[in-house]
Amino acid sequence: MPRIIDALIGRLGPENVLTEKEDILPYGFDGTAALKQLPLAVVFPHAAAEVATVVRLAREERVPIVTRGSGTGLSGGSVPAPGALVLCLAHMDKVLELDTKNLTLLAEAGAVTQDIYNRADAAGLFFPPDPGSMKISTIGGNVAENSGGLRGLKYGVTRDYVMGLEVVLADGSTCWLGSKCVKDVAGYNLRDLFIGSEGTLGVITKVLLKLLPKPAARQTLLATFAAMDAAAGTVSAIIAAKIIPCTLEFLDRKTIRCVEDFAHAGLPRDADAILLIETDGHPAAVADEAAKIEELCAAHGATSVKRATSAEEAVRLATARRSAFSALARLRPTTILEDVTVPRSELAGMVRAVQAVAEKHRLDIATFGHFGDGNLHPTILTDERDADEMARVELAFADIVEAALARGGTITGEHGVGLAKKPYLKRQLGDDSHALLRAVKRTLDPEGLLNPGKILD
Ligand SMILES: Cc1cc2nc3c(=O)[nH]c(=O)nc-3n(C[C@H](O)[C@H](O)[C@H](O)COP(=O)(O)OP(=O)(O)OC[C@H]3O[C@@H](n4cnc5c(N)ncnc54)[C@H](O)[C@@H]3O)c2cc1C
Repeated sequence: MPRIIDALIGRLGPENVLTEKEDILPYGFDGTAALKQLPLAVVFPHAAAEVATVVRLAREERVPIVTRGSGTGLSGGSVPAPGALVLCLAHMDKVLELDTKNLTLLAEAGAVTQDIYNRADAAGLFFPPDPGSMKISTIGGNVAENSGGLRGLKYGVTRDYVMGLEVVLADGSTCWLGSKCVKDVAGYNLRDLFIGSEGTLGVITKVLLKLLPKPAARQTLLATFAAMDAAAGTVSAIIAAKIIPCTLEFLDRKTIRCVEDFAHAGLPRDADAILLIETDGHPAAVADEAAKIEELCAAHGATSVKRATSAEEAVRLATARRSAFSALARLRPTTILEDVTVPRSELAGMVRAVQAVAEKHRLDIATFGHFGDGNLHPTILTDERDADEMARVELAFADIVEAALARGGTITGEHGVGLAKKPYLKRQLGDDSHALLRAVKRTLDPEGLLNPGKILD
């Protein structure tokens, strides 16, 4: 038994240290298909001070640490490095303060995103970031991945709601970065450095979040298109008309059929594409925007535009979109959810490029995503036991990334680099920017013990 295990049991108690194979097995993978590695052990701290203890012990013994929230990541970020300790923050899950005077919420990093949303909602407030995994993902994981969601078009991503962070550094010291002040320009903005750092620069232990007043009204529309180009053109027309819906989601033909079989939400099975559009805010503005959106959809080739007539119908439509991943995952044993973003003007071309990649490599690929943000999730339906097919998946993966970069896009819009996108990062950033990332990593984690091998080698 390695020395560190005894030390960890001594400091955290045996109930907070897992070492048996059957206990640690679930911590050897995250939501990313085909990536797994058993950890050395799994530890469950209950406070930031215990996190610092674990980091110090691991440093003394030169054992790598992989921080984990709920393990829903889709780029392999919390898949353990060989011989690594998984530091799972699941027990640090409390909302510590809801400040209704300053519209802020302070939570431990292991707090579940949905709980944060619910706490804000109960106080008439609104926490907009809503990754599809929010029922189980943690706020620490959201911050570490800078997660997006269905409301990103109008409300932005997790970064836009982080006012402060507590972070344990690689040397075991604990820093507080940021404040409750709406304006705060004291010193370098180090808080932002940790947002999207995927556990490679420090362990986030607390998060101070900005909340908004809850929008008074919401209207959901479903527009159906016989041609995908018309759907893409409609998105451009809505934005050009200076309307920013909170949600502007796209489902292609394959995804529509699959979601309808799964969720029975009344989606048109014969459509080539649908847009799910939601506008929120003051009731008068919402009514006005919804009417304009209807007109624009009709003018740009929608075969039908339906407004949800009740809150239940709106929820049913939104749930249908949210269930796209789960619905597709039923079709084949392995589901690989891609994540690329292109400038919005390139969306139709990018969807066509994905279709061409599917044909070229003889693969089943469905595409859905946040059309309003230019963020697409081509989803490869495959079987990881089929070596020949998996080799073609790898080639398709590279072609999709290349097609996005060729259109001025990015290799990831919200799922992060992790292990999955690491080979493509330099290609996007260029040598000098990539070297700068390395320099930051070396400065904050000179021994390379925090989530080694993720983002950078
Ligand atoms: C069905 C489904 C739908 C999804 N939908 C979306 C979506 O709409 N938008 C989106 O952006 N993502 C989505 N995701 C991806 C995933 O849920 C997000 O990346 C989420 O933020 C991960 O949170 P987690 O708690 O599960 O983190 P984990 O998967 O455990 O970890 C993710 C990364 O963050 C690091 N990390 C975790 N906690 C900390 C911490 N406290 N300090 C430092 N580093 C930490 C880990 O080391 C790892 O690199 C989806 C995933 C699934 C399975």
